[in-house]
Amino acid sequence: MRTVTDAVDLLRTASPAAVDVFTRILTRGPLSRTDVARLTGLSQAAITKAVAPMVAAGLVADRHEPAGTGTGSGNGNGLPGRPASPVRVVPESIITLGIKVNPGDIIGVATDLTAGILVSAHLAVVDTGFASMVDSIAEVARRLSELLGERAERLAGICVAVSGDVDTAGGVVRESALLGWADEPLGAALRSRLGVEVLIENDVRALTIAEHWFGVGVGTGSFAIVTIGSGIGCGLHVNGEVVEGAFGVAGEIGHLPLTSEQYVCTCGRRGCVEAVAGSSAIVRAVASAQPTPVASIDDAVALAHAGEPAAIEAFDRAGTVIGTAIATVANLTGPEIVVITGEAVADYDLYDQRLRAAFGAHAFGAAGNCRIVIRPHTFEDWARGAAAAALRGLVLQRYAGVSSIAPTSSRRPSPLASSREPV
Ligand SMILES: [Zn+2]
Repeated sequence: MRTVTDAVDLLRTASPAAVDVFTRILTRGPLSRTDVARLTGLSQAAITKAVAPMVAAGLVADRHEPAGTGTGSGNGNGLPGRPASPVRVVPESIITLGIKVNPGDIIGVATDLTAGILVSAHLAVVDTGFASMVDSIAEVARRLSELLGERAERLAGICVAVSGDVDTAGGVVRESALLGWADEPLGAALRSRLGVEVLIENDVRALTIAEHWFGVGVGTGSFAIVTIGSGIGCGLHVNGEVVEGAFGVAGEIGHLPLTSEQYVCTCGRRGCVEAVAGSSAIVRAVASAQPTPVASIDDAVALAHAGEPAAIEAFDRAGTVIGTAIATVANLTGPEIVVITGEAVADYDLYDQRLRAAFGAHAFGAAGNCRIVIRPHTFEDWARGAAAAALRGLVLQRYAGVSSIAPTSSRRPSPLASSREPV
């Protein structure tokens, strides 16, 4: 019988060529073997050899119907195993969990092999202290596992996405101003709590990974994702690869020093983009000019929409500095598209005019051909990004050691489903 262990073992031990073949099928499928050969530059024989164990493990199907439905035979031109039949991934052969950690809540999703969301869970949190948050993240993981029911046996990876400076290889959140964390060993804490290995990733990079494999990156060699809201973030995808940086930090446009030294950032530095354009900075600016209380970004948005000059000025200043930061990204990396997303896109009208004007003023030459598109945003998008990062970690063999989330045949059901109490 095929188990998720077969599929995970195959991925864990796959050669670089096999990883390339699987990644093409995952992101571009269904594809004929001839197309896979063309895309990878491998021979047809090498493709046939690489695909056969993927089909045997249930990761990939080479019939027109989903594997296991029993309706795939006898269709005349799609006989099982026939080289000409297209190959594609079997969506539910592997399930990954993605969890996004915010100061006020934790959002988790379970996704299939095509990044489709199967179930989701939200948990409101009050205490953002590290120990309490570890408990809450573990609780969300357990809820997702419960919601999956029998499908939890197919869990093969988990990733937690956090804003800030994240050491993915070491599983350490080096600095997260939004959460108030410094040098927190989140990976190790969750591993001891859940009994499985957990990848830790920067949240914007996780979003970029999802776009890289399942979104705009499928048809675009170079793009950037810019997030606006409580933080100002940026994920970079250059010449077909997600930019990770030598030390795990890249694309931190929120901390480009593009404003006056008078503005102090949440990171402690002065003059950062986020110190003017982040939600809390906008609220502060509007509140300081108002006799009436301005408690939240919603209040600031309402005042701007009502025509209050100080509120309009705060959003104008934010739009200008974000547009300047995007021009900086365009001048440095030359993306074809910049996708703007994040919670503040709901009120993007307040930023748009100044943002585009600043981009136009500062983009150099043909870098200005870059299209700026606005993407509606849900908080589940962040969690879905983390789930995509979990899958990418599995495919690219980023889980260290031997104890991945995949249950071994002697340890069933899945570790998450069976570890309801702290260990
Ligand atoms: Zn900063």
